Amino acid sequence: MTQVRHVLGISGGKDSSALAIYMSQKYPTIDIEYYTCDTGKELDETYEVIEKLNSLLGKNILQLQAADKSDLPPFDHFLTLYGGYLPSSISRWCTKKLKLDPFESFVGNDPVISYVGIRGDEDREGYISKKPNIQSIFPFRKNIWSEDVTAKVLSNSNRELILSLYAELPTNNKSDRFYEVLSQPISMSFNLIQKLNLLLDCDVKTFNHLTFKYLKTTDYPLSKVDYFPLIDNDEVLVRQDIFNLLDDNGVGIPNYYKKIEFEVNGKKGEYARSRSGCYFCFFQQKIEWIWLYEQHPELFIKAQAYEKEGYTWNQDETLNDLIQPERMTQIKEDYIKRTERNAQKNNSPFLLDLLSEAESEGCAACFI
Ligand code: SF4
Repeated sequence: MTQVRHVLGISGGKDSSALAIYMSQKYPTIDIEYYTCDTGKELDETYEVIEKLNSLLGKNILQLQAADKSDLPPFDHFLTLYGGYLPSSISRWCTKKLKLDPFESFVGNDPVISYVGIRGDEDREGYISKKPNIQSIFPFRKNIWSEDVTAKVLSNSNRELILSLYAELPTNNKSDRFYEVLSQPISMSFNLIQKLNLLLDCDVKTFNHLTFKYLKTTDYPLSKVDYFPLIDNDEVLVRQDIFNLLDDNGVGIPNYYKKIEFEVNGKKGEYARSRSGCYFCFFQQKIEWIWLYEQHPELFIKAQAYEKEGYTWNQDETLNDLIQPERMTQIKEDYIKRTERNAQKNNSPFLLDLLSEAESEGCAACFI
């Protein structure tokens, strides 16, 4: 049988770090290759987390680096090639060049299962490789499968095949309700997400066994393995579980996630960074730029130095504009108001919950 590789990318953020711990403890028999793609521009805390994981996992985390023959750090190498054109959410050359390309050349054409740490309380798929030899699995979610797999399993054109595969499952995997939902075609009044959620609510393990059976009829990497233990796992891990996993295993939460109090015009607020990734990442919110300015002024100055010849990290203002006293006050006040509004809405004490909107914009290569 073809050898299938299992890989797990660690960004240095909390979720991918927790996933590495989770997989190594829960599935020690899966021979996972852990890797990280270094942009050369991460916060020190990110490198510290990777150090700690190196010893905890008892395995060397492979350091993949784009442009490794260059004298410049990877980001600077490509920035020079792009003539100083800074990346942005609409022109995101950095993720492709610094994360996806090194990852894809690391796996080559081998069939690969790639484990991705998107949590059960997130609603995003992320920016992940779509190469056909790379199959993504999301162990923290109720639905461990990627969108493309789910779409095929539930498509009307595959309905007869899926029903016949369902009939082959052991009796203890079956129920009238599951069969009833599975038989119902997708329509204007019953969409794929509704069908998926009903099936998962009915029985996650049955859905997983059925999907695995279906994959055996395809060319997906999982068609090449006899047994995949995650199909018997119906655990869902949310943000607090991630914090617990990191704390319980002595890795701890990277410092930049920890809330720091600030005061503006007699009002108190708390800020932190919501994600791993480059210190100058253009996905960060204005309040996170202020956090960088106040907590890591040396990095803020470095980020400022990249803004030249009309290229800026934010579309609407330069970093120099952003740190003018009036503008900083306005950003902080707006942030406090938004935090209060969201706290009422979400009833959550976590700053990170309040930033989850921003988090969802990110990519599964950088911010998990
Ligand atoms: S963290 Fe941000 S700037 Fe760095 S590679 Fe990812 S998207 Fe680009």
